[in-house]
Amino acid sequence: LTKQKAAKVIGWARSHYLSSTVLPSIEGERLTIPRESLDLAIERLKEQVTKSKNLSQNLKNLAKDEYERNFISSVVPPDEIGVKFDDIGALEDVKRTLDELVALPMRRPELFSHGNLLRPCKGVLLFGPPGTGKTLLAKALATEAGANFISITGSTLTSKWFGDAEKLTKALFSFASRLAPVIIFVDEVDSLLGARGGALEHEATRKMRNEFMAAWDGLRSKENQRILILGATNRPFDLDDAVIRRLPRRIYVGLPDAENRKKILKILLAKENLESDFKFDELANATEGYSGSDLKNLCIASAYRPVQELLEEEKKGRVSSNSTHLRPLVLDDFIQAKAKVSPSISHNATSMNELRKWNEQYGEDG
Ligand code: ADP
Repeated sequence: LTKQKAAKVIGWARSHYLSSTVLPSIEGERLTIPRESLDLAIERLKEQVTKSKNLSQNLKNLAKDEYERNFISSVVPPDEIGVKFDDIGALEDVKRTLDELVALPMRRPELFSHGNLLRPCKGVLLFGPPGTGKTLLAKALATEAGANFISITGSTLTSKWFGDAEKLTKALFSFASRLAPVIIFVDEVDSLLGARGGALEHEATRKMRNEFMAAWDGLRSKENQRILILGATNRPFDLDDAVIRRLPRRIYVGLPDAENRKKILKILLAKENLESDFKFDELANATEGYSGSDLKNLCIASAYRPVQELLEEEKKGRVSSNSTHLRPLVLDDFIQAKAKVSPSISHNATSMNELRKWNEQYGEDG
């Protein structure tokens, strides 16, 4: 393997296969990749390359001009997203609501085509502190709905061809309509469609926003188009009323309590080598204020501890240098790792209060 290829294989194995017993590691010039991890990673990479070649050819045929072609690389088909609702710990109510509101109408449109009451929803907002699983929920929702997934941010539409933001926005919607069922995920929706910038706002940005709203309204009037705009934000209070109105379902994704932290930890540690009768309850109680993302970082930091110990033992000549036998993770690894990974949001932070207030005024369960 060249160094570059090795780095790619390691990156892949780390993100898809986070089990401490088969985790590749680099120490100085030495790279250790357990055979089983390497074989699997190479096999999957080959599959991915073949699949994505076929997919991008199909999408190229669907895109009708250079503007639409710009979005080809952002499209992920449902069977390649790789996240399901079951991979998300806690958030049961949110998953249930999203399933009823979005996944079911996309999977079974015929059930929603009669009468006036059951209309597919065209705009949903997920809001809450960072790292609570909003992006994860968006991806899992596309999997569950069997929908293509397009993820965009403000810069997708503005940075590339600045003057063309308006045409690019139009192209996003026309291309998406040919990919239906599709979920257009707008991450940091406040930065794309936040409150108007007044006199200082750039003309191109203003035009792009207007085009976005107009195309969105066109979509809302076509009942049978299975396209959903799913926005996510940590700063819903920066959204202006026109956007809030177009996102009629606003779902708060908050910080997990102890019981829910336990559920998240169980998912994050499902494939790890843990001491028998690992005390999940104790760890959940010791991680007050941690978001799902903080918990993941804590688990990663903890999983390194047995690796570091093994390397130290090797240095001292106490174990042979090709040993890959790692001890199980114990509760104390996590308690020690807490010194390195603390909660990223303070429960009493001003932004938390603002979020709670916004939820009371605009949210589903406010
Ligand atoms: P957000 O979009 O709300 O900022 P993300 O969805 O990007 O948060 O979460 C970041 C990472 O944290 C995820 O990729 C996942 O590894 C972890 N995570 C967050 N919430 C959960 C959860 N409820 N269950 C499992 N993992 C979670």
